[in-house]
Amino acid sequence: MKDIKIIGGGLSGLSAAINLAKAGYNVDVFEKRDDCGKRFNGDLEGLENWSSHVDILQEFKSMNIKINFDCDSFKTMCITDGKEIIENTSERPVFYLVKRGSTENCLDQGLKKQALDSGVNIHFNSKESKENMDIISVGTGENKPVGIVRGIRFETESDDIALSLLSNEASDRGYSYLLITKGYGCICSVNYYRDSSIINRYFKKTYEIFTNLMDIDIKNEKNVGGVGCFLIKPKYVIRGQIYTGEAAGLQDLLWGFGMRYAINSGFYAAKSIIENISYKKLVKQNIVPRLKTSVSNRFIVDRFGNRFNDHLLKWAKEDDNWSELLHWGYNPTLYTRAIYPIGKLLLMVKYRERRERRERLLKFKR
Ligand SMILES: Cc1cc2nc3c(=O)[nH]c(=O)nc-3n(C[C@H](O)[C@H](O)[C@H](O)COP(=O)(O)OP(=O)(O)OC[C@H]3O[C@@H](n4cnc5c(N)ncnc54)[C@H](O)[C@@H]3O)c2cc1C
Repeated sequence: MKDIKIIGGGLSGLSAAINLAKAGYNVDVFEKRDDCGKRFNGDLEGLENWSSHVDILQEFKSMNIKINFDCDSFKTMCITDGKEIIENTSERPVFYLVKRGSTENCLDQGLKKQALDSGVNIHFNSKESKENMDIISVGTGENKPVGIVRGIRFETESDDIALSLLSNEASDRGYSYLLITKGYGCICSVNYYRDSSIINRYFKKTYEIFTNLMDIDIKNEKNVGGVGCFLIKPKYVIRGQIYTGEAAGLQDLLWGFGMRYAINSGFYAAKSIIENISYKKLVKQNIVPRLKTSVSNRFIVDRFGNRFNDHLLKWAKEDDNWSELLHWGYNPTLYTRAIYPIGKLLLMVKYRERRERRERLLKFKR
């Protein structure tokens, strides 16, 4: 097969497209919006650099992704309960901040340029159905949302900062964050709740806590936000079609750091086609162990909410290497492996994944 069709021109679709085009395939990407990154509205997102000891930029290079977008490294990170700010500086970057959207220097535009330079044809405003596609990369398009983000982006003269707020007043079993880099900022509340009507209330509280806690210069604010999809049992290959990124349900269920999963899964989709090896096997080896850890962690947060946050704040105070603390939390341990079977079952019931899988199966049989 030398012609490949990909539906969805987001991170995972473009990562697959770049790698396939570089290997000599004719690649067509079908994107429903009129440009890449239009799902987002210029929010800042963190490329987490803790789940692996390999620096994420190095990892991207090994996956044929160049850094042709703005990408600011953060070694210092702060955490707060709304009263006290705890600051920590790690030896290596804890994460890199990137902008999502369709303006120049956004991650999405960087990948688009790399895809076009590699010879990929991108069809915008596409109404193609997924039937004849080889790779399904439609992001949150198909699966039910589990996380909801509500926030603002703004221009500012305040100093750069990455501050996480752990407060059950400001988010429902999630967290809030204030990010500022080079005169551009974001304040958001991340919630794990199905009822979107309460999200505005949590965002208001988030905004209030941050602006009471510190003096923030906020100009030209615009709304940002969206949903995150996750499947406890990811989709790999269905009827010969490969699923990547959030369309496959590959997302960090604990805190929603899905960009690494997306770019990795796009790379593995391409690798499986180029080398004729099992995509499922590649994802199970390289992504699923962390995915399962995030299920166990989410189960603990859902179950213990406030108490989990209190522990996290206590650990943050005591530990002077957050990068390692997060690495430990994001990788399988005896503890998370033991929790996984029960966590998986209860979360599948809670997020109605079991019922939806059964309905899909019945529909398919019919
Ligand atoms: C507000 C917000 C903040 C976030 N913050 C972070 C963060 O800080 N760190 C992090 O790692 N992750 C974060 N995430 C998650 C991360 O953005 C996603 O996990 C990642 O973008 C998923 O990549 P993807 O390729 O699966 O989907 P996307 O990048 O969303 O791409 C999917 C593409 O498919 C297109 N599409 C959909 N349906 C169709 C169709 N029928 N036909 C054609 N095209 C279609 C869409 O328009 C879109 O361009 C955040 C998400 C949100 C919403």
